[in-house]
Amino acid sequence: MSTPTNGLEPLIGVTTTDLAAITRGRFVAAKNLERIAKHGIGWLQANICLTPFNSIANPNPWGARGDLRILPDLKARYRTEHTGRATAFDIVFGNIVDLDGSPWNCCPRTLLKNALNRLRNEHGINLLASFEQEFQLVGADFPPAHVMSYGALRNADEYASRLMGSLADARVDPEVVIAEFGADQFEVTCGPSDGITAADRCVVIREIAREIAKTSGWHASFAPKTAPDGVGNGVHIHFSFRDANGKPLTYSADGPAGLSPQSQAFCAGILKHLPGITALTAPSLSSYYRLKPHAWSASYTWLANQHREATLRICPVVTIGGADPSPQFNIEYRAADATANPYLALAAVVLAGLEGLNAKLPCPPLVNDDPTEMSDQRRAELGLVRLPESLPAALKAFDDDKVVQSWFDPLFIESFHCVRKAELATLASLSPAEVCERYRTLY
Ligand code: GLU
Ligand code: MG
Repeated sequence: MSTPTNGLEPLIGVTTTDLAAITRGRFVAAKNLERIAKHGIGWLQANICLTPFNSIANPNPWGARGDLRILPDLKARYRTEHTGRATAFDIVFGNIVDLDGSPWNCCPRTLLKNALNRLRNEHGINLLASFEQEFQLVGADFPPAHVMSYGALRNADEYASRLMGSLADARVDPEVVIAEFGADQFEVTCGPSDGITAADRCVVIREIAREIAKTSGWHASFAPKTAPDGVGNGVHIHFSFRDANGKPLTYSADGPAGLSPQSQAFCAGILKHLPGITALTAPSLSSYYRLKPHAWSASYTWLANQHREATLRICPVVTIGGADPSPQFNIEYRAADATANPYLALAAVVLAGLEGLNAKLPCPPLVNDDPTEMSDQRRAELGLVRLPESLPAALKAFDDDKVVQSWFDPLFIESFHCVRKAELATLASLSPAEVCERYRTLY
Protein backbone atom coordinates (compact mmCIF):
# COMPACT_ATOMS: atom_id res chain seq x y z
CA MET A 1 0.00 0.00 0.00
CA SER A 2 1.61 3.28 -1.07
CA THR A 3 1.66 6.21 1.35
CA PRO A 4 0.35 9.55 0.05
CA THR A 5 3.13 12.10 -0.45
CA ASN A 6 1.64 14.56 2.05
CA GLY A 7 1.45 11.78 4.68
CA LEU A 8 -2.33 12.04 4.98
CA GLU A 9 -4.13 8.81 4.10
CA PRO A 10 -7.65 9.70 2.85
CA LEU A 11 -10.03 7.88 5.19
CA ILE A 12 -13.67 6.94 4.89
CA GLY A 13 -15.99 6.33 7.82
CA VAL A 14 -18.02 3.12 7.47
CA THR A 15 -20.91 3.96 9.75
CA THR A 16 -24.22 3.15 11.32
CA THR A 17 -26.55 5.32 13.40
CA ASP A 18 -27.38 3.94 16.83
CA LEU A 19 -30.37 4.26 19.16
CA ALA A 20 -28.92 7.44 20.65
CA ALA A 21 -28.80 8.88 17.09
CA ILE A 22 -25.01 9.01 17.15
CA THR A 23 -23.17 8.22 13.91
CA ARG A 24 -20.63 5.55 14.81
CA GLY A 25 -18.32 3.29 12.89
CA ARG A 26 -14.77 2.62 11.84
CA PHE A 27 -12.41 4.34 9.49
CA VAL A 28 -10.51 2.68 6.66
CA ALA A 29 -8.34 3.89 3.80
CA ALA A 30 -10.82 5.20 1.23
CA LYS A 31 -8.95 3.48 -1.59
CA ASN A 32 -9.82 0.09 -0.04
CA LEU A 33 -13.55 0.69 0.21
CA GLU A 34 -14.62 -1.59 -2.65
CA ARG A 35 -12.62 -4.46 -1.23
CA ILE A 36 -13.94 -3.84 2.28
CA ALA A 37 -17.51 -3.65 0.99
CA LYS A 38 -17.44 -7.40 0.25
CA HIS A 39 -17.19 -8.45 3.90
CA GLY A 40 -17.77 -5.24 5.79
CA ILE A 41 -16.03 -4.08 8.95
CA GLY A 42 -16.31 -5.43 12.48
CA TRP A 43 -19.10 -4.34 14.79
CA LEU A 44 -20.73 -5.76 17.89
CA GLN A 45 -24.18 -6.22 19.33
CA ALA A 46 -23.65 -4.21 22.53
CA ASN A 47 -22.88 -1.10 20.46
CA ILE A 48 -26.62 -0.65 19.92
CA CYS A 49 -26.77 0.02 23.66
CA LEU A 50 -24.19 2.81 23.67
CA THR A 51 -25.59 5.94 25.27
CA PRO A 52 -24.90 9.55 24.30
CA PHE A 53 -22.89 9.83 27.54
CA ASN A 54 -20.10 7.51 26.39
CA SER A 55 -21.32 4.58 28.44
CA ILE A 56 -22.92 1.29 27.48
CA ALA A 57 -26.36 0.91 29.02
CA ASN A 58 -26.05 -1.52 31.86
CA PRO A 59 -27.82 -3.91 32.05
CA ASN A 60 -28.24 -4.67 28.34
CA PRO A 61 -29.20 -7.91 26.59
CA TRP A 62 -25.85 -8.37 24.84
CA GLY A 63 -22.91 -8.18 27.23
CA ALA A 64 -19.35 -8.53 25.96
CA ARG A 65 -19.98 -11.46 23.60
CA GLY A 66 -20.72 -11.50 19.90
CA ASP A 67 -19.63 -9.99 16.61
CA LEU A 68 -21.33 -8.43 13.63
CA ARG A 69 -20.34 -6.61 10.42
CA ILE A 70 -21.30 -3.24 9.00
CA LEU A 71 -21.68 -3.83 5.26
CA PRO A 72 -21.22 -0.50 3.49
CA ASP A 73 -23.87 0.42 0.94
CA LEU A 74 -21.70 1.85 -1.82
CA LYS A 75 -24.60 3.93 -3.17
CA ALA A 76 -24.71 5.69 0.22
CA ARG A 77 -21.32 7.36 0.09
CA TYR A 78 -21.15 11.10 0.77
CA ARG A 79 -17.94 12.99 0.19
CA THR A 80 -16.84 16.60 0.02
CA GLU A 81 -13.56 18.43 0.35
CA HIS A 82 -15.21 21.77 1.19
CA THR A 83 -15.86 21.58 4.94
CA GLY A 84 -12.62 23.36 5.76
CA ARG A 85 -10.84 20.36 7.28
CA ALA A 86 -7.42 19.06 6.27
CA THR A 87 -8.92 15.93 4.72
CA ALA A 88 -12.19 15.23 2.91
CA PHE A 89 -15.44 14.55 4.72
CA ASP A 90 -16.06 11.01 3.48
CA ILE A 91 -18.70 8.73 4.92
CA VAL A 92 -20.54 5.64 3.78
CA PHE A 93 -23.59 4.21 5.51
CA GLY A 94 -23.93 0.52 6.04
CA ASN A 95 -26.36 -2.12 7.17
CA ILE A 96 -25.51 -4.25 10.17
CA VAL A 97 -25.43 -7.96 9.37
CA ASP A 98 -24.47 -11.22 11.07
CA LEU A 99 -21.18 -12.84 10.13
CA ASP A 100 -22.93 -14.89 7.42
CA GLY A 101 -24.39 -11.72 5.86
CA SER A 102 -27.95 -12.18 7.09
CA PRO A 103 -29.59 -8.95 8.24
CA TRP A 104 -29.32 -8.18 11.96
CA ASN A 105 -32.82 -7.68 13.38
CA CYS A 106 -31.79 -4.63 15.41
CA CYS A 107 -30.20 -2.62 12.56
CA PRO A 108 -32.23 0.61 12.28
CA ARG A 109 -31.39 1.10 8.59
CA THR A 110 -32.57 -2.43 7.84
CA LEU A 111 -35.76 -1.87 9.84
CA LEU A 112 -36.49 1.14 7.62
CA LYS A 113 -35.66 -0.79 4.45
CA ASN A 114 -38.06 -3.57 5.48
CA ALA A 115 -40.84 -1.08 6.29
CA LEU A 116 -40.41 0.62 2.89
CA ASN A 117 -40.42 -2.77 1.12
CA ARG A 118 -43.66 -3.68 2.86
CA LEU A 119 -45.25 -0.42 1.73
CA ARG A 120 -44.17 -1.16 -1.85
CA ASN A 121 -45.15 -4.84 -1.84
CA GLU A 122 -48.46 -4.54 0.01
CA HIS A 123 -49.73 -1.28 -1.49
CA GLY A 124 -47.64 -0.44 -4.55
CA ILE A 125 -46.42 2.72 -2.83
CA ASN A 126 -42.89 4.11 -3.07
CA LEU A 127 -42.30 6.63 -0.32
CA LEU A 128 -40.42 9.87 -0.91
CA ALA A 129 -39.17 11.72 2.15
CA SER A 130 -37.12 14.66 3.27
CA PHE A 131 -35.95 15.67 6.75
CA GLU A 132 -36.16 19.39 7.49
CA GLN A 133 -33.77 20.17 10.33
CA GLU A 134 -33.27 23.07 12.71
CA PHE A 135 -30.14 23.71 14.76
CA GLN A 136 -28.39 26.46 16.68
CA LEU A 137 -24.83 27.69 16.39
CA VAL A 138 -23.45 27.71 19.90
CA GLY A 139 -20.38 29.74 20.85
CA ALA A 140 -20.46 31.97 17.81
CA ASP A 141 -21.26 35.11 19.78
CA PHE A 142 -22.83 36.81 16.76
CA PRO A 143 -23.81 40.47 17.04
CA PRO A 144 -27.56 40.92 17.66
CA ALA A 145 -29.75 40.44 14.60
CA HIS A 146 -33.42 40.24 13.76
CA VAL A 147 -34.75 36.71 13.47
CA MET A 148 -35.38 35.50 9.90
CA SER A 149 -33.39 38.47 8.66
CA TYR A 150 -30.84 38.84 5.92
CA GLY A 151 -28.55 40.29 8.58
CA ALA A 152 -28.83 37.20 10.79
CA LEU A 153 -27.69 34.99 7.94
CA ARG A 154 -24.91 37.37 6.94
CA ASN A 155 -23.72 37.38 10.57
CA ALA A 156 -22.90 33.74 10.04
CA ASP A 157 -21.07 34.27 6.76
CA GLU A 158 -19.35 32.16 5.51
CA TYR A 159 -21.01 29.39 7.49
CA ALA A 160 -24.23 29.14 5.48
CA SER A 161 -22.46 29.38 2.12
CA ARG A 162 -19.95 26.73 3.09
CA LEU A 163 -22.75 24.50 4.41
CA MET A 164 -24.78 24.75 1.21
CA GLY A 165 -21.69 24.30 -0.96
CA SER A 166 -20.51 21.25 0.97
CA LEU A 167 -23.95 19.65 0.97
CA ALA A 168 -24.33 20.18 -2.77
CA ASP A 169 -20.87 18.76 -3.37
CA ALA A 170 -21.77 15.73 -1.21
CA ARG A 171 -24.92 15.15 -3.38
CA VAL A 172 -27.38 15.97 -0.63
CA ASP A 173 -29.44 18.27 -2.88
CA PRO A 174 -29.74 21.15 -0.38
CA GLU A 175 -32.67 23.49 -1.03
CA VAL A 176 -32.98 26.38 1.41
CA VAL A 177 -31.00 27.70 4.36
CA ILE A 178 -32.84 29.96 6.81
CA ALA A 179 -31.87 32.11 9.77
CA GLU A 180 -34.73 30.71 11.87
CA PHE A 181 -36.80 32.19 14.65
CA GLY A 182 -34.57 31.28 17.63
CA ALA A 183 -31.30 32.74 18.88
CA ASP A 184 -28.58 31.79 16.37
CA GLN A 185 -30.98 29.20 14.97
CA PHE A 186 -30.77 27.98 11.40
CA GLU A 187 -32.67 25.51 9.28
CA VAL A 188 -31.59 23.62 6.21
CA THR A 189 -33.75 21.61 3.86
CA CYS A 190 -33.00 19.20 1.06
CA GLY A 191 -34.92 17.72 -1.83
CA PRO A 192 -37.09 14.61 -1.46
CA SER A 193 -35.64 11.18 -2.15
CA ASP A 194 -36.43 7.54 -1.40
CA GLY A 195 -36.79 6.88 2.34
CA ILE A 196 -33.34 5.34 2.90
CA THR A 197 -31.58 8.12 1.04
CA ALA A 198 -33.63 10.70 2.94
CA ALA A 199 -32.47 9.30 6.30
CA ASP A 200 -28.88 9.05 5.02
CA ARG A 201 -29.04 12.70 3.93
CA CYS A 202 -30.45 13.66 7.33
CA VAL A 203 -27.34 12.23 8.99
CA VAL A 204 -24.99 13.83 6.45
CA ILE A 205 -26.57 17.24 7.00
CA ARG A 206 -26.02 16.96 10.76
CA GLU A 207 -22.45 15.79 10.44
CA ILE A 208 -21.46 18.38 7.84
CA ALA A 209 -23.22 21.19 9.74
CA ARG A 210 -21.30 20.18 12.89
CA GLU A 211 -17.99 19.77 11.11
CA ILE A 212 -18.11 23.20 9.48
CA ALA A 213 -19.13 24.80 12.79
CA LYS A 214 -16.18 23.12 14.50
CA THR A 215 -13.71 24.64 12.09
CA SER A 216 -14.89 28.03 13.41
CA GLY A 217 -14.70 26.91 17.03
CA TRP A 218 -18.51 26.71 17.32
CA HIS A 219 -20.89 23.85 17.91
CA ALA A 220 -23.92 23.21 15.68
CA SER A 221 -26.42 21.89 18.20
CA PHE A 222 -29.41 19.89 16.99
CA ALA A 223 -30.65 19.32 20.58
CA PRO A 224 -34.47 19.51 20.80
CA LYS A 225 -34.10 22.39 23.26
CA THR A 226 -30.86 24.16 24.15
CA ALA A 227 -32.63 25.95 27.03
CA PRO A 228 -35.98 25.05 28.62
CA ASP A 229 -37.57 28.37 27.69
CA GLY A 230 -35.71 28.71 24.38
CA VAL A 231 -36.83 27.78 20.91
CA GLY A 232 -37.19 24.13 19.85
CA ASN A 233 -35.01 22.51 17.22
CA GLY A 234 -37.39 20.28 15.32
CA VAL A 235 -36.87 17.58 12.75
CA HIS A 236 -39.86 17.66 10.44
CA ILE A 237 -40.23 14.54 8.32
CA HIS A 238 -41.94 15.25 4.98
CA PHE A 239 -43.38 12.34 3.04
CA SER A 240 -45.28 11.67 -0.16
CA PHE A 241 -46.11 8.65 -2.32
CA ARG A 242 -45.38 7.54 -5.88
CA ASP A 243 -46.55 4.46 -7.76
CA ALA A 244 -44.16 2.09 -9.55
CA ASN A 245 -44.09 4.43 -12.57
CA GLY A 246 -43.37 7.53 -10.50
CA LYS A 247 -46.95 8.83 -10.67
CA PRO A 248 -47.85 10.85 -7.52
CA LEU A 249 -50.33 9.10 -5.21
CA THR A 250 -50.60 11.49 -2.28
CA TYR A 251 -53.04 14.00 -3.76
CA SER A 252 -56.66 13.86 -4.95
CA ALA A 253 -58.30 17.10 -6.05
CA ASP A 254 -61.60 15.98 -4.53
CA GLY A 255 -60.16 14.47 -1.30
CA PRO A 256 -60.38 16.24 2.07
CA ALA A 257 -57.74 19.01 1.92
CA GLY A 258 -56.41 17.19 -1.15
CA LEU A 259 -55.66 13.88 0.57
CA SER A 260 -55.82 10.82 -1.69
CA PRO A 261 -57.51 7.67 -0.31
CA GLN A 262 -54.04 6.22 0.43
CA SER A 263 -52.97 9.39 2.28
CA GLN A 264 -56.13 9.41 4.35
CA ALA A 265 -55.67 5.85 5.61
CA PHE A 266 -51.91 6.33 6.11
CA CYS A 267 -52.44 9.47 8.21
CA ALA A 268 -55.16 7.71 10.20
CA GLY A 269 -52.72 4.90 11.02
CA ILE A 270 -50.10 7.38 12.19
CA LEU A 271 -52.55 9.23 14.43
CA LYS A 272 -53.89 5.96 15.87
CA HIS A 273 -50.40 4.79 16.86
CA LEU A 274 -48.90 8.20 17.52
CA PRO A 275 -48.77 7.91 21.34
CA GLY A 276 -47.05 4.51 20.87
CA ILE A 277 -44.44 5.76 18.39
CA THR A 278 -43.63 9.07 20.07
CA ALA A 279 -40.86 7.39 22.09
CA LEU A 280 -39.25 6.33 18.80
CA THR A 281 -39.37 9.76 17.16
CA ALA A 282 -38.77 11.85 20.30
CA PRO A 283 -36.73 9.54 22.53
CA SER A 284 -34.89 11.79 24.97
CA LEU A 285 -35.75 13.48 28.22
CA SER A 286 -35.39 16.87 26.55
CA SER A 287 -37.68 15.89 23.64
CA TYR A 288 -40.60 16.51 25.99
CA TYR A 289 -39.58 20.08 26.75
CA ARG A 290 -40.23 20.70 23.04
CA LEU A 291 -43.46 18.74 22.47
CA LYS A 292 -45.78 21.28 24.04
CA PRO A 293 -48.75 23.29 22.78
CA HIS A 294 -48.12 26.76 21.35
CA ALA A 295 -44.52 26.01 20.45
CA TRP A 296 -45.10 25.19 16.76
CA SER A 297 -43.92 21.65 17.42
CA ALA A 298 -46.53 18.92 18.10
CA SER A 299 -48.67 18.02 21.08
CA TYR A 300 -51.87 16.23 19.99
CA THR A 301 -52.90 13.41 17.65
CA TRP A 302 -53.83 16.11 15.20
CA LEU A 303 -54.04 16.33 11.40
CA ALA A 304 -54.47 19.78 9.88
CA ASN A 305 -54.15 21.63 6.65
CA GLN A 306 -51.19 24.04 6.78
CA HIS A 307 -51.21 24.37 10.57
CA ARG A 308 -47.84 24.36 12.38
CA GLU A 309 -49.24 23.22 15.73
CA ALA A 310 -50.53 19.95 14.28
CA THR A 311 -48.45 16.78 14.44
CA LEU A 312 -49.39 15.91 10.85
CA ARG A 313 -49.38 19.04 8.74
CA ILE A 314 -50.61 18.96 5.17
CA CYS A 315 -48.07 21.19 3.46
CA PRO A 316 -49.01 23.91 0.99
CA VAL A 317 -48.95 23.49 -2.76
CA VAL A 318 -48.25 26.31 -5.16
CA THR A 319 -50.41 26.77 -8.22
CA ILE A 320 -48.63 29.85 -9.55
CA GLY A 321 -48.38 29.66 -13.34
CA GLY A 322 -50.77 26.70 -13.37
CA ALA A 323 -48.34 24.39 -11.52
CA ASP A 324 -49.68 20.88 -10.87
CA PRO A 325 -50.30 20.29 -7.13
CA SER A 326 -49.98 16.50 -7.26
CA PRO A 327 -46.17 16.09 -7.39
CA GLN A 328 -45.69 18.82 -4.76
CA PHE A 329 -48.28 17.57 -2.30
CA ASN A 330 -46.70 16.19 0.87
CA ILE A 331 -47.40 15.73 4.55
CA GLU A 332 -45.12 16.62 7.42
CA TYR A 333 -44.63 14.68 10.68
CA ARG A 334 -43.53 17.22 13.31
CA ALA A 335 -43.13 15.16 16.50
CA ALA A 336 -39.49 14.23 15.76
CA ASP A 337 -36.16 15.64 16.85
CA ALA A 338 -32.48 14.93 16.37
CA THR A 339 -32.15 12.71 19.44
CA ALA A 340 -34.13 10.15 17.40
CA ASN A 341 -32.45 7.76 15.02
CA PRO A 342 -33.81 9.02 11.66
CA TYR A 343 -34.08 5.52 10.16
CA LEU A 344 -36.09 4.33 13.14
CA ALA A 345 -38.24 7.49 13.23
CA LEU A 346 -39.16 7.14 9.55
CA ALA A 347 -39.70 3.39 9.96
CA ALA A 348 -42.14 4.08 12.81
CA VAL A 349 -44.06 6.58 10.68
CA VAL A 350 -44.20 4.14 7.75
CA LEU A 351 -45.21 1.14 9.88
CA ALA A 352 -47.95 3.13 11.60
CA GLY A 353 -49.16 4.38 8.21
CA LEU A 354 -49.18 0.79 6.93
CA GLU A 355 -51.46 -0.23 9.79
CA GLY A 356 -53.89 2.46 8.62
CA LEU A 357 -53.69 1.28 4.99
CA ASN A 358 -54.17 -2.38 5.91
CA ALA A 359 -57.14 -1.61 8.17
CA LYS A 360 -58.55 0.82 5.54
CA LEU A 361 -58.99 3.40 8.29
CA PRO A 362 -61.20 6.39 7.43
CA CYS A 363 -59.76 9.91 7.11
CA PRO A 364 -59.17 11.51 10.51
CA PRO A 365 -60.98 14.81 11.09
CA LEU A 366 -59.13 17.86 9.80
CA VAL A 367 -58.91 20.27 12.71
CA ASN A 368 -57.98 23.90 12.47
CA ASP A 369 -58.88 25.09 15.98
CA ASP A 370 -56.64 24.99 19.03
CA PRO A 371 -57.18 21.74 21.00
CA THR A 372 -56.13 23.44 24.23
CA GLU A 373 -59.15 25.71 23.95
CA MET A 374 -61.64 22.88 23.41
CA SER A 375 -63.70 21.04 25.99
CA ASP A 376 -62.70 17.47 26.81
CA GLN A 377 -65.83 16.32 25.04
CA ARG A 378 -64.98 18.22 21.82
CA ARG A 379 -61.44 16.85 21.84
CA ALA A 380 -62.81 13.33 22.32
CA GLU A 381 -65.24 13.81 19.41
CA LEU A 382 -62.32 14.84 17.19
CA GLY A 383 -60.05 12.05 18.47
CA LEU A 384 -57.51 14.56 19.79
CA VAL A 385 -55.32 12.88 22.38
CA ARG A 386 -52.40 14.65 24.07
CA LEU A 387 -49.05 13.12 23.12
CA PRO A 388 -47.07 11.64 26.03
CA GLU A 389 -45.78 14.49 28.16
CA SER A 390 -42.56 12.90 29.38
CA LEU A 391 -40.11 10.19 28.33
CA PRO A 392 -41.41 7.70 30.94
CA ALA A 393 -44.98 8.31 29.72
CA ALA A 394 -43.85 7.82 26.12
CA LEU A 395 -42.08 4.57 27.00
CA LYS A 396 -45.23 3.33 28.70
CA ALA A 397 -47.35 4.23 25.65
CA PHE A 398 -44.78 2.39 23.47
CA ASP A 399 -45.13 -0.72 25.66
CA ASP A 400 -48.91 -0.44 25.83
CA ASP A 401 -49.38 -0.37 22.04
CA LYS A 402 -49.16 -4.07 21.22
CA VAL A 403 -49.32 -3.36 17.49
CA VAL A 404 -46.24 -1.14 17.71
CA GLN A 405 -44.51 -3.80 19.83
CA SER A 406 -45.26 -6.44 17.18
CA TRP A 407 -43.13 -4.59 14.61
CA PHE A 408 -39.86 -5.26 16.44
CA ASP A 409 -37.70 -8.11 17.67
CA PRO A 410 -38.00 -8.40 21.49
CA LEU A 411 -34.22 -7.86 21.74
CA PHE A 412 -34.59 -4.60 19.85
CA ILE A 413 -37.30 -3.45 22.26
CA GLU A 414 -35.18 -4.45 25.24
CA SER A 415 -32.15 -2.61 23.84
CA PHE A 416 -34.23 0.50 23.22
CA HIS A 417 -35.51 0.43 26.79
CA CYS A 418 -32.02 -0.11 28.19
CA VAL A 419 -30.66 2.97 26.39
CA ARG A 420 -33.58 5.12 27.54
CA LYS A 421 -33.36 3.86 31.14
CA ALA A 422 -29.63 4.60 31.23
CA GLU A 423 -30.38 8.07 29.91
CA LEU A 424 -33.03 8.72 32.55
CA ALA A 425 -30.73 7.44 35.30
CA THR A 426 -27.80 9.58 34.15
CA LEU A 427 -29.92 12.73 34.15
CA ALA A 428 -32.10 11.95 37.17
CA SER A 429 -30.67 14.59 39.48
CA LEU A 430 -30.43 17.41 36.91
CA SER A 431 -32.76 20.39 36.54
CA PRO A 432 -34.40 21.01 33.12
CA ALA A 433 -31.81 23.75 32.47
CA GLU A 434 -28.98 21.34 33.24
CA VAL A 435 -30.56 18.63 31.08
CA CYS A 436 -30.80 21.06 28.15
CA GLU A 437 -27.20 22.08 28.70
CA ARG A 438 -26.09 18.42 28.53
CA TYR A 439 -28.01 17.75 25.29
CA ARG A 440 -26.86 21.06 23.84
CA THR A 441 -23.28 19.84 23.91
CA LEU A 442 -24.03 16.18 23.05
CA TYR A 443 -26.18 16.83 19.98
N1 GLU B 1 -38.94 25.27 15.88
C1 GLU B 1 -40.19 24.58 15.70
C2 GLU B 1 -40.06 23.14 16.20
O1 GLU B 1 -39.55 22.94 17.22
C3 GLU B 1 -40.67 24.59 14.27
C4 GLU B 1 -40.88 25.96 13.69
C5 GLU B 1 -41.28 25.84 12.24
O2 GLU B 1 -42.45 25.64 11.95
O3 GLU B 1 -40.38 25.86 11.40
O4 GLU B 1 -40.44 22.19 15.59
MG1 MG C 1 -38.46 25.72 10.85
